[in-house]
Amino acid sequence: MSRDRILLFAQRAAAYLYPRRCPFCREVLRSDKSQVILCPSCAVRARTLAHNPPRLPLSEHVFYAVHGAASAYYYEDEVRQAILLCKLHGNPWLAREMTDLTAICLFGARPAGQAGGCPDYEAPGGLRPYDCIVPVPPRQGSRSGPRLPELMARRLGQILHLPVCRDLRAVKPMLPQKSLSLRERLLNQRDGYALRSGSSVIGRRILLVDDVITSGATVSACALALFQGGAADVFAASIAVDEEH
Ligand SMILES: [Zn+2]
Repeated sequence: MSRDRILLFAQRAAAYLYPRRCPFCREVLRSDKSQVILCPSCAVRARTLAHNPPRLPLSEHVFYAVHGAASAYYYEDEVRQAILLCKLHGNPWLAREMTDLTAICLFGARPAGQAGGCPDYEAPGGLRPYDCIVPVPPRQGSRSGPRLPELMARRLGQILHLPVCRDLRAVKPMLPQKSLSLRERLLNQRDGYALRSGSSVIGRRILLVDDVITSGATVSACALALFQGGAADVFAASIAVDEEH
């Protein structure tokens, strides 16, 4: 058997064993084009959960360092459930699907022409708005596997044709943000990140990625470290925004 036939056989076997599922309800998707990413009822639901326009208003968040930020969805219902499943149970396929949806909402990527494919993105006018993608790093002492920002960065890198640079590291112990007040969140994160030794971000336009933006304290603290290292621009992108706080 030729190498191509073996590859085709392996792809078909993988599609049979691990059929593509709707990231919101996890039903198996049919292979026709109308169901490439979401099943029909979740496609309708996604429109009501979308943060439109995706750009986040500066007045509702504490963006003291990022130049701007955008989120694809509100952190509610099916979106919240999908993000929690990725964070608590790994689920790399779900992280990939949620990132694909985010790339379509935030950057105008075109959905993949066939199930399992990568969304198609061409930079408008051929000019790339960013030089690299930097994921928000894990908290100190976190021992879990690849975290959602890291998985998002890898997939977005493929879609937007940008390198992923793991330039940041957490430099102090930080509490989980969700248990804190706004003032405590800012203090908890402030000076919490620094460049890795040997990293250089001088003059770079950076796309900073996190799964959920709430107060903006985390992305701002990361952006501050990047600007202190000489970055020219930092824009934050997330799957979802939690505007409850
Ligand atoms: Zn669905």
